[in-house]
Amino acid sequence: MTAAQLDGTAAAAAIREEIAARTANLPQLSLAVVLVGEDPASAVYVRNKERACKKAGIRSVAHRLPADTSREHLLALVATLNADPEIDGILVQLPLPKHLPEREILDAIVPEKDVDGFHPVNQGRVLLGDRDALAPCTPAGIMELLRRNGHDVSGRRAVVVGRSTIVGRPLAALLISQNATVTVCHTKTADLAAEVARAEYLFVAAGRRGVVKPEWITPGCVVVDVGIHRLDDGTLTGDLDFAPCAERAAAITPVPGGIGPMTIAMLLANTLRAGLLRRGLTE
Ligand code: NAP
Repeated sequence: MTAAQLDGTAAAAAIREEIAARTANLPQLSLAVVLVGEDPASAVYVRNKERACKKAGIRSVAHRLPADTSREHLLALVATLNADPEIDGILVQLPLPKHLPEREILDAIVPEKDVDGFHPVNQGRVLLGDRDALAPCTPAGIMELLRRNGHDVSGRRAVVVGRSTIVGRPLAALLISQNATVTVCHTKTADLAAEVARAEYLFVAAGRRGVVKPEWITPGCVVVDVGIHRLDDGTLTGDLDFAPCAERAAAITPVPGGIGPMTIAMLLANTLRAGLLRRGLTE
C-alpha cells in the first residue's frame, strides 16, 4: 500500500489565502509576538510566524526582550498588550528562560487575545466542545488538515500518543467532539503496541523518535506525525520512521510539510477569529 500524503504545506497556503481575502475587508488586525532571549530555534519560529502574518494581511508587532527580563517586566508588557485596543492577539514564544514562570505568564494573557489557545479558559472551552474556542494551534491544525482531506473521524478508533497540554490533551478533546472513540497513551501505557494496533487514526506526539514501530500500525490506518526533530545533518524528521509507516498507512503526514505549517496557519486563523470576536463580527 502506498499512503496518500496529507500535505500540510498546501493546506496551510490555502488557509493563508482565505484569511488574506477576509482581512482585506477588515480594519488592520495585529498580532503581538513576544520573544524573550536568544534561543535560535525560537527566533526562527518567530520569524516564520511574522512572515506568515504578513502574507495573510495581519500586522505582527514583535517585542524582542533580553534573556534576563524579569517576571515583573514581562507581566507588565502582557498587561499593556491586553489593554491595547490595537492588538487582537498575543503570543508569547515558548520556551521562556528558566527563571520565568511560564504558566503564570500564559495565564496573564486575556483569553480573548490568547491566540495560542494555551489559557485555561480556552483549554476548558475546547474540553466543553465549544466550536468558537481559540483552540491550541497544533491540534486545531491536525483536525483542519484531516477535514480538508475528506477524513471524518466520527465513529472511528483514534489513538493519541502523548498527553501534553499543547498537543495530546486538546487533540483528544477535539477528536471526542467530532465523535471519535479516543485512546490517549503516555509513558505509563502498559502495552503501547496493542493500543497502536487498534488505531484507525493514529496521532503521534511523543517527542521521541521511533516511539511507534511501523509494524505496530494496522494497514489502512491514517497516520499523523506531530513530532519534530532536527538531525545532526540539519534535516528535519518526525517521531516516526516515515517510509515503512507510509507503506502501511492509507494516508500519512510528512515531516517537514505536515503539521508544522498547519500550526502556523491556525495561529493566523485564531488571530482572525479573535479580531472578529472582539469587533462583534462573524467569519
Ligand atoms: P511533551 O510535552 O514532551 O509531551 C510528550 C508526551 O509524549 C508526554 O505525554 C509523554 O508521556 C509522551 N511520551 C513520551 N515518550 C513516550 C513513550 N515512549 N511512550 C508513550 N508516550 C510517550 O511534547 P509536546 O510538546 O506535546 O510535543 C511532542 C512533539 O511534537 C515534539 O517532537 C514537538 O517538537 C512536536 N511539536 C510539533 C509541533 C508542530 O507544530 N508540528 C507543535 C508542538 C509540538 P508522559 O506524559 O507520561 O511523560
